[in-house]
Amino acid sequence: MKAIRVHEFGGPEVLKLEELPTPKPSKGEVLVRVHAIGVNPYDTYMRAGTYALKPPLPYTPGSDAGGVVEAVGEGVIKAKPGDRIYTARTISGAYAEYALALEQQVHPLPERIDLKQGAGLWVPYGTAYHALHHQAKARASETVLVHGASGGVGIAALQIARAMGLHVIGTAGTPKGLQLIKREGAHRVFNHGNAGYQEEILQATGSRGVDIILEMLANVNLASDTKLLASSGRVIVIGSRGEVTINPRELMSRRASIRAFTLWAITPAEEADIHAGLFAGLENGTLRPIVGKELPLAEAARAHKEILEAGSAGKVVLIC
Ligand code: NAP
Repeated sequence: MKAIRVHEFGGPEVLKLEELPTPKPSKGEVLVRVHAIGVNPYDTYMRAGTYALKPPLPYTPGSDAGGVVEAVGEGVIKAKPGDRIYTARTISGAYAEYALALEQQVHPLPERIDLKQGAGLWVPYGTAYHALHHQAKARASETVLVHGASGGVGIAALQIARAMGLHVIGTAGTPKGLQLIKREGAHRVFNHGNAGYQEEILQATGSRGVDIILEMLANVNLASDTKLLASSGRVIVIGSRGEVTINPRELMSRRASIRAFTLWAITPAEEADIHAGLFAGLENGTLRPIVGKELPLAEAARAHKEILEAGSAGKVVLIC
């Protein structure tokens, strides 16, 4: 099989397409014929060697795939050959024509979701679901600002928040992104590239502020986020690429809080919740993963460059 291998940490050029033996599933394992792979920003940090989790070298990147079960090992009961599934982590890496996964890492795809959409599920939708349900404990009457709504996590958050009944404000950095987030559920949209857009957001809430902020770029926005919160508001930090200084008094006067998490650290009960909630939303059509760009597996290096560039419009997926 063809697979992307990383033999040393470094720039996108360390992603090499190689021939490897197709793995065989052992007891409790599932072999997946991968059709599409979701590229996530953390794949690039891990490849660069700057991420908290450093895999032993060489390794095949990727946790998110959409595919079909090819074979199952002894004792597997949840999946059978021919099942359409998405992966939430794998054993052998998702950037490959075949991936080995534990039985509990593969999840069924409803009929209406195709395999490319399946590749855009686990990290983006799992993160957005966890942020809104478990971290923010969002309620239907609340207002959420999805700060960075045009990317993978942002679009997922818009759709989930709309399905929960929240009033949704979203930001993007390009006209294409703004159009997309409006279409995917934002009631109000703002360009995070425009000077003074935070003041416009505050005005759009009648100066009350927002109850929840899902923050994709905390190092840039956290200080101004604290001034956009309503009383008892909470910022949920999802993404950050550096340090930031904040004024705690902005939180004190609002009885507000900042929470942060990584998807790696969720509990098994939270993960079970996430998959059940996502399946229901995918099945009833309220959740619709948006594929913004498709590239062949061989162009993984290009995907790693482009995922970090401005102008997001949905998921970047690799096709096998
Ligand atoms: P993505 O698809 O690359 O999207 C990045 C988003 O950030 C886009 O919507 C982009 O908007 C937006 N952005 C750019 N400049 C911004 C600014 N000044 N203010 C607010 N937003 C801005 O990435 P993703 O998959 O959605 O992930 C988003 C972030 O969350 C990444 O840093 C990722 O590493 C992190 N993340 C963390 C977890 C976790 O477990 N905590 C899980 C998943 C992702 P434009 O392109 O329209 O400007």
